[in-house]
Amino acid sequence: MIEKFFDIKQEMVKLDEEVMEICKPYFDKIDEISEYNQLKVLKAFIDNGISAQHLVGTTGYGYGDKGRDGLDKLFADIVGAEDALCRHSFMSGTHTLTVALFGVLRAGDTMFCATGTPYDTLHGVIGIDGSKCGNLMEYGIKYDQCDLLINSEPDLKTIFEKCKTAKVCYIQRSRGYAKRKALSLETIKSIADTAKKANPNIIVMVDNCYGEYTHKEEALKYGADLIMGSLIKNPGGGIAPTGGYIAGRKDLVELCANRLTAPGTGRELGCSLDVMREMYLGVYFAPMITANALKTSVYASCVYEKLGFETEPRYMEDRNDIITSISAKTPENVIAICQAIQTASPIDSYALPEPSEMPGYDSKIIMAAGAFTMGSSIELSCDAPLREPYIAYMQGGTSFTASRAAVLMSAQKVYENMNK
Ligand SMILES: *Cc1c(COP(=O)(O)O)cnc(C)c1O
Repeated sequence: MIEKFFDIKQEMVKLDEEVMEICKPYFDKIDEISEYNQLKVLKAFIDNGISAQHLVGTTGYGYGDKGRDGLDKLFADIVGAEDALCRHSFMSGTHTLTVALFGVLRAGDTMFCATGTPYDTLHGVIGIDGSKCGNLMEYGIKYDQCDLLINSEPDLKTIFEKCKTAKVCYIQRSRGYAKRKALSLETIKSIADTAKKANPNIIVMVDNCYGEYTHKEEALKYGADLIMGSLIKNPGGGIAPTGGYIAGRKDLVELCANRLTAPGTGRELGCSLDVMREMYLGVYFAPMITANALKTSVYASCVYEKLGFETEPRYMEDRNDIITSISAKTPENVIAICQAIQTASPIDSYALPEPSEMPGYDSKIIMAAGAFTMGSSIELSCDAPLREPYIAYMQGGTSFTASRAAVLMSAQKVYENMNK
């Protein structure tokens, strides 16, 4: 049907048909997970008695804000946590992770990262980039890490040794933009179990960005004490305009609440303005929206593999985040993919992204994002550094039908490049 609306060549229509057939069993599995999570979410809305009153905002201090408190409780139930903060006042995933780390750690404590160097934006938060903007290290918190082994397996022996003296064992579930795999819940459990065997008091914290709803449960059932994520990724369902969440053990969430607002004030403060309806609606839609992003990822992997490109993960592999990397081989292909994704986006389709310098990067970067929410990566987006081995990172897709068309059009551009 795509060819009725867009200029898709016959070869590509055939490729699309073939890929849809191959992907069917993987789509079925995604649907099953999504159904389970959607019912879990619906049950939590009913159990928490969410009402029209919850959708109305407050101003000022926000004392007794029913919508805010209800959303915290609702989200805790959904992810299987004792307690949660699910709030628009978290400005980004990085801010959420920062509040959690500063909330839990004290001078003299050690933060140990079990999954290699954390996501780029955390370097400045910890202080491993040498900057001095009030990072953890400046407050007397020590940092240590160990790398993942080949094939992204955790180094359990080293983790056991290092956790003996650490306060926090930090795990990053998604690959972010590193050359590693996203971690399965079973792998997270093996790290958490090892950490707790070495040190029963250790706090296991999981950067859950991009991981939510990829499976039926979240990491809290697999040994995590605290999980953190961004609401402009999976759990905001493409509707939450901003925000993040921290969920897990009640005493730890309490510490984080005191860091989010002010020590001694904690969770009682923070008006909800006019965002509550979108926050609740986003949380409600999130399992379905994540399923669309997962299908887009499987579809993209299969399309590009059929054209002779390596992808990570491959289409038949289990997914623990919504990112697909495509080894596009040449700068022309990387640019073609990003430009085609932009051209097939609902917003700013007329814009043509070009590679450009970005602060903090040593090569030019090209980014495609035609999203309703600025910076949202649950919506279809694609970015790539213009350097060897020319990998394009694609993520999101709130509507599989629309994203499928965009991916197919990007493939057509690459196909044309190859047959020039
Ligand atoms: C996106 C992401 C972050 C940071 O989130 P921002 O909203 O970009 O600040 C941290 N860790 C991982 C693994 C992520 O994917």
